[in-house]
Amino acid sequence: MRVVVVGGGIGGLALAQGLTRAGIEVVVHERDARPEHTGGYRLHLDDDAHRSLRRLLAPPVLQAVLASAAGGAAFRRFSFCDHRMRVLAAETMPPGARLMIGRIPLRTLLAHDLDVRWGSAYRDHATSDDGRIRVRCTGGTTTADVLVGADGTGSAVARALAGRPLAAPTGVDGIAGIVRLDERARDLLPPVLHDGPALAFGPGGLGVFLSVHDPATNPVDPGACTSPAAVPEPASLVLGPLLPADRWPRDPRGLDGAGLAALLTETLRDWHPDLRALAHRLDPATVAHFRFTAADPDADPAPWPSGTVTAIGDAVHAMPPTGGLGAATAIRDADVLARELTAAATGTTTIPLALHAYEREMATYGPVAVRESLGPLRVQRRMSGRAGAVALRAAGAWATARAHATARRAPSRTGRPG
Ligand SMILES: Cc1cc2nc3c(=O)[nH]c(=O)nc-3n(C[C@H](O)[C@H](O)[C@H](O)COP(=O)(O)OP(=O)(O)OC[C@H]3O[C@@H](n4cnc5c(N)ncnc54)[C@H](O)[C@@H]3O)c2cc1C
Repeated sequence: MRVVVVGGGIGGLALAQGLTRAGIEVVVHERDARPEHTGGYRLHLDDDAHRSLRRLLAPPVLQAVLASAAGGAAFRRFSFCDHRMRVLAAETMPPGARLMIGRIPLRTLLAHDLDVRWGSAYRDHATSDDGRIRVRCTGGTTTADVLVGADGTGSAVARALAGRPLAAPTGVDGIAGIVRLDERARDLLPPVLHDGPALAFGPGGLGVFLSVHDPATNPVDPGACTSPAAVPEPASLVLGPLLPADRWPRDPRGLDGAGLAALLTETLRDWHPDLRALAHRLDPATVAHFRFTAADPDADPAPWPSGTVTAIGDAVHAMPPTGGLGAATAIRDADVLARELTAAATGTTTIPLALHAYEREMATYGPVAVRESLGPLRVQRRMSGRAGAVALRAAGAWATARAHATARRAPSRTGRPG
């Protein structure tokens, strides 16, 4: 059996690793010229994704992934704050084997030893009378038994299958960039971030996602991996504001990294001074703009008759990054589809039945993840109005009173003043 995967992002490469491990021939066509040509933010991968990676990856690749990540111990809580970084609510994370890994290291390692045609964009495909699929890409034509679209939000493969796009803009845009954590930047970090990521809400409905990524906290020794070697990253803070598309002081589209960094700093004008100081330290080369899109969580994610072509990841269940679930769900898809295609390759099922089984199972968790990821955007919409401003002020006053009460009981645990 030969499989062509269109899209060498997180889901497509994870699938290709799993199929290769099962002895199935795979060719990946990827539009980007190199694995590093991708967003520099870090990914949180949940327990399910972690378990899937253990099944999909050969032990040396898995070891290098684990050695390039920050240990899950750094993620004890997810906090909601106001723009003064006063904690309004916090969710304690259940213990588990979650991973925090940079997107570039993960993608680089997932591409290890695969046949990836970099710089090759999908054009179209056609199925001939013998059932084989001819996939035309800018880097050449490949013939295969199965085609998998792993080409992300706005997938051309899924559009060809469904006859329409499967995702639409949510009306919210995000900017994300990285601050390298040198000693001065560490001094500026709001204490709440030592326990895990936070989403802070401020005036005008501006939400800001904040997360420290520190691979030095990882108990796995990077030196233990040689082929592939671990991909080390310096400690960093991810700073990611999100705002309804029509509320940015300037249109973020078309701005370069420096322009986006300036816009990001401008939006934080009324925020905690330490956050503003951190924003001034953003590395412009890492700042990018994202238009958040989402699939309809009430619709069938694979609305086509099962055959020899399917799609995984954001191509079928696009979701905003506000749930931290998109890559994790793409990896889970890769795991399920690799398992089903392996069964087809060994003759215990047929290819259409294998794709049908994958599509049916994916439909049980994909739309759930989309719905969960849309939740914070609904909170943000409520915070954008007059009632939201009043609620934010009241919650901030309550958080200050609570911090003072805590300080009276245990002075050493007081947070930084706003
Ligand atoms: C700022 C930010 C933070 C995030 N944080 C998290 C997180 O913490 N946890 C998490 O689970 N998810 C997170 N996500 C979401 C996650 O990045 C995506 O959901 C995930 O990458 C989806 O994987 P995928 O393989 O479906 O698509 P992608 O990884 O986007 O890969 C699609 C690939 O297809 C290629 N492609 C597109 N069109 C073509 C074509 N015509 N021909 C060939 N190749 C093509 C693209 O170049 C790309 O490489 C975040 C996203 C953003 C923007």
